[in-house]
Amino acid sequence: MKAAEIRQTFLKFFESKGHTIVPSSPVVPGDDPTLLFTNAGMNQFKDVFLGFDKRPYTRATTAQKCIRAGGKHNDLENVGYTARHHTFFEMLGNFSFGDYFKRDALKYAWELLTEHFKLPKDKLWATVYAEDDEAYDIWVKEIGLPAERVVRIGDNKGARYASDNFWMMGDTGPCGPCSEIFYDHGPEVAGGPPGSPDADGDRYIEIWNNVFMQFNRTEDGQMHPLPKPSVDTGMGLERIAAVLQGVHSNYEIDLFVNLLAAAKQAVDVAGAKDCDPASPSLKVIADHIRACSFTVADGVIPGNEGRGYVLRRICRRAIRHGYKLGARAPFFHRLVPALVKEMGEAYPELRQQQERITDVLKQEEERFFQTIANGMEILESALATLAQAGKSELDGETAFKLHDTYGFPLDLTADVCRERGVTVDAAGFDAAMARQREQARAAGKFKMAQGLEYAGVPTTFHGYDKLVHEQCQVVAVYVD
Ligand code: ATP
Ligand code: MG
Ligand code: MG
Ligand code: MG
Repeated sequence: MKAAEIRQTFLKFFESKGHTIVPSSPVVPGDDPTLLFTNAGMNQFKDVFLGFDKRPYTRATTAQKCIRAGGKHNDLENVGYTARHHTFFEMLGNFSFGDYFKRDALKYAWELLTEHFKLPKDKLWATVYAEDDEAYDIWVKEIGLPAERVVRIGDNKGARYASDNFWMMGDTGPCGPCSEIFYDHGPEVAGGPPGSPDADGDRYIEIWNNVFMQFNRTEDGQMHPLPKPSVDTGMGLERIAAVLQGVHSNYEIDLFVNLLAAAKQAVDVAGAKDCDPASPSLKVIADHIRACSFTVADGVIPGNEGRGYVLRRICRRAIRHGYKLGARAPFFHRLVPALVKEMGEAYPELRQQQERITDVLKQEEERFFQTIANGMEILESALATLAQAGKSELDGETAFKLHDTYGFPLDLTADVCRERGVTVDAAGFDAAMARQREQARAAGKFKMAQGLEYAGVPTTFHGYDKLVHEQCQVVAVYVD
């Protein structure tokens, strides 16, 4: 089953269960300042869950464009390292707004997976929130999943980043206990079952999360019961496609095979000369072209703060991986036609804006290609010095210089370093940035004083935006 067909089967199944098919919302959330990018299908229904908004339906189903490259739910560092994480992916979801709850949600999921997608039952596992006896009993007693494949998992609710089985959209907002469904890709893939110490491998892959929305978490950390218990589910289209297409990695599904081929061709033309088709760098590029194109299509342009900076970081990361393969000229924007071919039908905004997306990405590439060679030379020589000295941490000064002079976002430097088993002194980076900011402030005051004297009128020093990295939440600091 091709990805497009899976998407349709999912939506039609839930439509047959009384759900209204609702279009995806943009990757840029309209009016939610707590969110950098849309990170789940439920985002567009947040106010419905909270009881502030009403819809003409109590059941909905969507295929939602999601980006997880900043803020909570940040998977940027995982791309290229796991078989299942993307910066951009599609989340298939069904939602109940005070209509059905746990029992129906889990039964619908089971029916779709085993009767329509025809997954072998013995390959499926489920997790439930540790104290959720109700969900546990539905799995074991009603659905008939053997108890040894239903795992209770706790949470760390109080922490900023709650973990498995208590799902939160962000630091605030709707949340609740959840039950996740896993697929066992078989013993030839490394990794242990959910809840085990080596659960982080790619053998047992989480395909579907059923969240039982019951609370609104406010800034003070309090959990307030929602007006009505509701359901929010999310299944990664690429992950279920891998299962249904009998492959172990998301990058082997139909859609990615074509994007990977386009990536290889583009870097080869730009100087990579027949690069290895299995290179993880090609996967990073194929992943990132989706995140970048969809973000541009929804109105973001690369810049130095907020969403624009996240976009810039993803672009530059892709470019660096092309450079690593040997590309010495812009190549990234050349993947846009292949993406439009793969996804333009489901997402017409790509087709409509193909030219614009290409231009925006090309400009960003041309800009970065001017400095990447010099930056890489500096980084390589710093890494060589470290290796000679038997050290494994890059100093913050060098990382800052790369950022400030050569436009290397910190995560890009860290990505290169990680490939060599080297970490980056992030505190040293922050200190170097703070010092430079201080100097700029002093210079700004000086300039302003000069301006006043010279022109005889107040002069505003617009300064420049400076970036502070903090879990990839980018904050603009204005020098005044
Ligand atoms: P994981 O534990 O694998 O990181 P998650 O628990 O963070 O996934 P959820 O927030 O529960 O994911 O999202 C619901 C579903 O969306 C997941 O079950 C998975 O199928 C899919 N999904 C989540 N993150 C990604 C991603 N980065 N790339 C592709 N699919 C994803
Ligand atoms: Mg995750
Ligand atoms: Mg998970
Ligand atoms: Mg999950």
